[in-house]
Order: sequence, then C-alpha cells, then structure tokens
Amino acid sequence: MRNKTDFNLEYSYLSLPNKFYSLVKPMPVAKPELFLLNHELCNELNISTKDPESIINAIYGNDPDNSKTFSQAYAGHQFGHFTMLGDGRAVVVGEHITDGGNRFDMQLKGSGKTPYSRAGDGKATLKSMLREYLLSEAIHHLNIPTSRSLAVLKTGEVVRRETLNEGAVLIRVMKSHIRIGTFEYARHFGTTDDLKALLQYTIKRLLPDVEQSENQALSLLKKVISLQIELVVNWMRVGFIHGVMNTDNVSISGETFDFGPCAFLNSHHPETVYSSIDAYGRYSFGNQPEIMKWNIARLAEALLPLIHNDSETSLMLAQNAIDEFDEIWNEKYYSTMLNKLGIENKNKDFYPLVDELLELMTNLKLDYTNTFYALGTDVNSKDNPKQRPELKTWLEKWQNAIFKNSNGSETSRELMSLNNPVYIPRNHLVEQALNEAVEGNMTLFDRLLGVLKTPYTYQKNCDSFTKQPDTDFEMRYQTFCGT
Ligand code: AMP
Ligand code: MG
Ligand code: MG
Repeated sequence: MRNKTDFNLEYSYLSLPNKFYSLVKPMPVAKPELFLLNHELCNELNISTKDPESIINAIYGNDPDNSKTFSQAYAGHQFGHFTMLGDGRAVVVGEHITDGGNRFDMQLKGSGKTPYSRAGDGKATLKSMLREYLLSEAIHHLNIPTSRSLAVLKTGEVVRRETLNEGAVLIRVMKSHIRIGTFEYARHFGTTDDLKALLQYTIKRLLPDVEQSENQALSLLKKVISLQIELVVNWMRVGFIHGVMNTDNVSISGETFDFGPCAFLNSHHPETVYSSIDAYGRYSFGNQPEIMKWNIARLAEALLPLIHNDSETSLMLAQNAIDEFDEIWNEKYYSTMLNKLGIENKNKDFYPLVDELLELMTNLKLDYTNTFYALGTDVNSKDNPKQRPELKTWLEKWQNAIFKNSNGSETSRELMSLNNPVYIPRNHLVEQALNEAVEGNMTLFDRLLGVLKTPYTYQKNCDSFTKQPDTDFEMRYQTFCGT
C-alpha cells in the first residue's frame, strides 16, 4: 500500500547525463484547487481517488520526492527552423509505476518558469488546459495513442495573455516525453556519448524489441517510422489536424501530444488549417504525412553518428530507411481508409475509390465524419450524403467493390463502425463548452466529454453533437499555441 502520495514515483530519466534535464520544482501557486479529476484514468493507473486533496499534496506538498522533479531539455525544428527549446512551462513530477509495472511520465504543465522559459511566463490558462483535457481524452477514446489528462488544478492566479485569464495546471500522463527534438538536442548540443546514452535509455524504456538488433540506431529509426505512420494514419482517419507538428512535438513513443492549436475537420478539404500562426499551411490536414516524413528525416540526421562509423554508409542506410516511408504510408493509409469504406481487401485496385470519394467530398463540401458514417447506415433522410446525385456513380463502384470483397455486408458494416466515429469534438461545441466552463458552467463540457467517451456508438438525443458549425464560425475559427 502506498501512503505518502498517490503516485508511485521513480526517476529513471535522471540516469541520463545531466545536460538532458534541469532539476526544477513546480512554482508554488496562490491557491491550488482540484478542478477536474479523471477518475477512470486514476483507476487505470492504480492511483487512489479516495482523497483527491492528496493529488495536490503530491505536487505542492513537502514530499521529499519533490526535490527530484525536473524539466527536460530538448531542441527542435519549429516551422522548419532549428532552435533550442526545452520544457518552458512544465516539470516532470516523476515516473509513476502502475501495479502492473508500467511506467508513465506525470508531467505538470503550466507549472511556472524553468531554465528553458525564455521570455515566457511558464504558465497556462484554465481554458487551454481544459481544452487539452477534452481533446486528449477524445483522441484516446477514438482509439488513438495519446498523452492523457489526469487532472486540471486551478492555481488561483491570473495569467495574462491578450486578456486576463484564470490560471491552471494540467497533470499530463504519457508513456514518455522523449521526442525527436530530444535526439536533435543530443546531436547538436551533446557528445556522441550523450547521444548513445539517450539511444540506450530510449530503447530500454520504450522499444525493448530493438535491444537485440545489430544496428540499434537504425532499428529505432525504422520503429519510429512505423509508429508515426500508424499515428498519422489514425489522425487522417478521424479528421484530426494536429496543427503544430514541429519536431519537438513528435514523440518517440508514437503518442499524440501537444494539443495547443489542434482541431477537427468538418467539411473535407486537404488544405484545412486552423492554427493562427500557420500562415502557409505547413501543418494543414492533407500535409500531415509529408511533414511527418520530413520530421523523420530530422530524426535520421540526429542518429547518423550512431548508425555507422563510416559517414557515407550511415547516410545511405538512413536514406534507405526514409525511402521506405512512402510505401509503408500508402499501405497503411489505404488499408485504413478502405476499412472506413467497409473493405478489408488491401488490393491497390481499390485505392482510387478512396481518392475519388475524398475529391467528391472536397468539391461538394461534404462533412468528413458524417459522410463516412452515413455510408455505413441506412438513414434515408434528405441530409444523407448518399442521396446526392453527384455521388451516384461512385456509390455504384463502391457497392460493386464491397460485393467483390465478398466478406458479406455484415463484416463490412462492422469494419465501418469500428473506423468511422459518429461523434468528434466539433470545433464550435468545444469553444462553447470551454467558454461556459471558464464562466463556471460545466454542463456542456461534461456532456461533450461524456458523448466522446463512446464516439463509435450512436447515442440517443445527441444529434446536436453531429452538426457542422455554421460557415461563419468555420471561416473565423482560429486556434493558438502557448495559451
Ligand atoms: P509548443 O508550441 O507548445 O511546442 O511550445 C514551444 C516551446 O515554447 C516549448 O519550449 C514550450 O515549453 C515553450 N512555451 C510555450 N508556452 C510557454 C510559456 N507560457 N512560458 C514559457 N515557455 C513556453
Ligand atoms: Mg510542445
Ligand atoms: Mg504546446
């Protein structure tokens, strides 16, 4: 039985050379108050919720473990430009070990200034921490690997952005916060031994399969390629736009993280962007695979000294691995998109079916989520995109393909219902829920969170959660980093 704190903390990260972190304590706050607690996640992690106050204690109390809390050093390419970064507003409270022996970073986000804060205040607003809570939990329930949100604590402090805001901290849970940017940091600001230490640590902690391989650095690279393709394919599957795929926001574990400017697609258009700072659409919906490939190339560069002693051989091996990206992407992407159409067969002959539908959806401004969902149901309302005359030819082809696929319509339906959510966090509802939440009314926030816990199941009296925002809202909607 644990008693001191609700967390069962270790600090394996501190076994790395000390340039990988700074020992930092969360800045004391005026009046910490537990605002939102994820009971489900507490249960999964074997964290007692009997006395929620002890969560506050675990972070702001005088527990001696507190002396080991740390912020991580990392670098990264932001919108293509390399720069030194690091946790400017976060500390890792420790690595919580579950009863089953699984290790999770418990990170406090919005915890105050650190040596990596630069000009920032190290803080976070209640609204943006609630946003991360809602969206990360939604991604989790869409069955996509992600950081999770354990709790939001109000700090009792005022955070200045464009306006004055209530301050908050989020307890973020993740297998690990090691990112491409951590490797870039080791490569550019450390020695080859530092890089080696990071590689060894990462493999031991996250990718034990790689341990036996002859070329560990190359195997890690290939493993990350496969994990990240799996991840981004899933984002494409549900219409998720991450919004800030800088290399410091790409985890080695393959988990979605950094929910600052993310948003969900409504009408399908590959160029959709919501982030206020993404002027050129670098991180648009349709650009996500290409950007991930670019990010992977930055990881490969960082790993070069460990791939082979001979630099030309090293370059060639890395390049070969990167060259495999497109083929792995296509296989994974099209098989997933075909699953959304109820087709299990991965034959390339079926690929155009996906591309043609997406193009029709773009031209007709059809809702991405609702169109895929409608294909798997028999609802004959006039709103059903299946009634659109422009889709007639495509629908015939599709029916024909399902028929050829010959696994029967039951299997097809099953496949579609597993891959096509009924509910996603609609941007306008997220905004409304957050605006009301910071005014003290959690009704919509709780309801939305509830609906998004079973996003693949049709729920009675929830049709309002499937509606698109009005065009006016969509045109104006912008998301932000660092709030
Ligand atoms: P992000 O765009 O969230 O990946 O953040 C990029 C960098 O800015 C990271 O090093 C963050 O820690 C840092 N950062 C973001 N917001 C703040 C803030 N309010 N104070 C200090 N650093 C910040
Ligand atoms: Mg970040
Ligand atoms: Mg961020």
